[in-house]
Amino acid sequence: MAEVDATVEGKAVRLQVAAARQEESGRGVARLPRSTFQALGITEGDVVEITGKRTTAAIAMAAYDEDQSLEVVRLDGLQRNNAECGSGEHVRVSAARSRPATRVVFAPASREMRLQGPTQALKRNFFRKPLTAGDLVATTGQQPVQNMPPEVQRMFNAPAYALTQIRLTVVSTAPKGIVHIDENTEVELRAEYEESPTGRAVVNYDDVGGMDDTIQQLREMVELPLRYPELFTRLGVDPPKGVLLHGPPGTGKTRLAQAVANESDAQFFIINGPEIMGSGYGESEKRLREVFEDATKHAPAIVFIDEIDSIAPKRAQVTGEAEKRLVAQLLTLMDGLEARSNLVVIAATNRPDAVDEALRRPGRFDREIVIGVPDEKGRREILAIHTRGMPLGDRVDLDELARVTHGFVGADIAALAREAAIDAVRRIMPKLDLDERTIPPEVLDNLSVTREDFLSALKR
Ligand code: ADP
Repeated sequence: MAEVDATVEGKAVRLQVAAARQEESGRGVARLPRSTFQALGITEGDVVEITGKRTTAAIAMAAYDEDQSLEVVRLDGLQRNNAECGSGEHVRVSAARSRPATRVVFAPASREMRLQGPTQALKRNFFRKPLTAGDLVATTGQQPVQNMPPEVQRMFNAPAYALTQIRLTVVSTAPKGIVHIDENTEVELRAEYEESPTGRAVVNYDDVGGMDDTIQQLREMVELPLRYPELFTRLGVDPPKGVLLHGPPGTGKTRLAQAVANESDAQFFIINGPEIMGSGYGESEKRLREVFEDATKHAPAIVFIDEIDSIAPKRAQVTGEAEKRLVAQLLTLMDGLEARSNLVVIAATNRPDAVDEALRRPGRFDREIVIGVPDEKGRREILAIHTRGMPLGDRVDLDELARVTHGFVGADIAALAREAAIDAVRRIMPKLDLDERTIPPEVLDNLSVTREDFLSALKR
């Protein structure tokens, strides 16, 4: 797989990035070949610095046996994001030291999330893990949130909030550089999202399950041209302008498009078909034009059009003038895109036959990817993603759950995991003193989602 390209530059080793194994995602570990340990004079558990377009820190662990002969470093999606490098690219790895922090400030990593509450759990969560300001990090296990505002309750489908993985940004640290939290560190949690200096989004390839082949196709069609436009210029070919994803609702099309944008370091713009259709006379076209203009200005960018069939149904079947004008506007915008404007439009539909053929001509949405209902292996991966932050009971068997969820799409699996978590929370409710706004740590420590929780959620 990887081309061998390791050079020792002083005390740094150049390695090609590969994706971490699913089960190791979120642990802050970098898997390195033994040769790298020798070259850098480090041992397992030491802190290393990973430098792509940005620098982040990780804990060095030995590569899996089958990887030993490859010059690769395995990093999870958050780490690739933090080092600003994609899979297949090269990073420099060097020995580093982490200093105890006097203070670390965290904030929610997305706009929709508001958090409030005690920080002991956060402290426990990140204890002794290397952090740098600007990093995107994930909590593992339970996260007590105090005095939840209604928006948070809605978002986490409370009370399952206590079991969800939460993504946070490290806003600042004192001292600067690589630090870790210890007994004396003061930890602060801001209630609201803060624009990260690099404006990086939260979703990446690790968050999309059962789509290895699709991700590979999209990487070639979209990520490669966005990342290396010069490749295409050199070859004298035009990269695709439009890609049509088709598949049933809830199969992860939106999530996939977001992940591609993030991993390509591209800005993400989203147009919701039915929503834009609902705008007033002339407004819909104007909105469409504005999004395209905005995206062009912020290239590299991806414009994602969800439910394109509602914007661009077959014109023959369309009676309304408004629809006709909107299709025409979209065609004009697609044709007006410079082949090398570094902008890709990804559209999604579950009714490909209902989309105007004109949109599928060369130079428009001329690539298509089918996103099917996941098979058992895919469901297993999606289950792993949605139970990532959960304390699971010993008898929970994801293989078994993957087997019995035939026909489930990603959204169904996400709902199943949420339901099971709610059951687990219901079980501890009697132990809670509802006048107390925080959950005692010993109750949280005993909280786990069991096989029965999943099976009873399945019956609903
Ligand atoms: P679509 O755009 O195909 O309708 P979404 O991307 O909006 O589907 O998926 C809805 C939700 O379902 C996602 O936010 C995610 O929680 C879950 N989901 C769907 N597909 C997947 C998948 N392949 N891997 C992980 N989660 C998924």
